[in-house]
Amino acid sequence: MSNKKKIFILLGVVISLIILTASGSFAAGKKRIILIDPAHGGKEQGVKLTGDVYEKNITLAVALAVKKELAGENNIEIILTRDSDKTMDPEERKKIIEKVNPDFFISLHVNGGFGKDASGFELYYPTFAEEMSAEGKAAKDSKAQLRNKCQNDSLKMAKVVQDNLGSLFPRKGRGLRKADSPVTENLLVPALSVEMGFATNSEDKKKLLSVKTQTDIAKSLAKSVKTFFR
Ligand SMILES: [Zn+2]
Repeated sequence: MSNKKKIFILLGVVISLIILTASGSFAAGKKRIILIDPAHGGKEQGVKLTGDVYEKNITLAVALAVKKELAGENNIEIILTRDSDKTMDPEERKKIIEKVNPDFFISLHVNGGFGKDASGFELYYPTFAEEMSAEGKAAKDSKAQLRNKCQNDSLKMAKVVQDNLGSLFPRKGRGLRKADSPVTENLLVPALSVEMGFATNSEDKKKLLSVKTQTDIAKSLAKSVKTFFR
């Protein structure tokens, strides 16, 4: 065999290998980890809806339902900060975020206040404000890049969730708001807080207490996660 022929055969093998690897990793996809935080829990009950039902119960029910909705997805793994009625402070939740290092963090809440007429869902995403630090320029630049990515991802997810919840609760969206939460403050992780409705509004309260609405919210969040990573 001439050297030229050998080189052509070798080249062919290399190209086939590259194509096979590329298509293989395409089919398998990268596993995305979503950390869902059912806010409050245990002694820290959150806003009261009725009798013995509090915000902590609704957030847990919806979080568990989202996990169930996405259980069949091979490329998505849902982890919860809590799957039972336990007391957790923001620092504990923060530690879980740092340990899990998720592709996205979603915190679930029930709103309250602003008078009994205030109703509908609200979405908050972090500001990713720059920390004062003495690190070198290269480290600063790479952090700035990551901050940018987190900001863009958070806004992207907020818009997807807004669309999906908006079709579930027409004219009930109170918009996207930029605000930091003590749980994600100073962390570089894309995040969204979902205030699912108002415990202080009778119509919202009735909805939030129904398993049907809890499931609908979970379905629309699950759909949003799938759309986000598509
Ligand atoms: Zn809350």
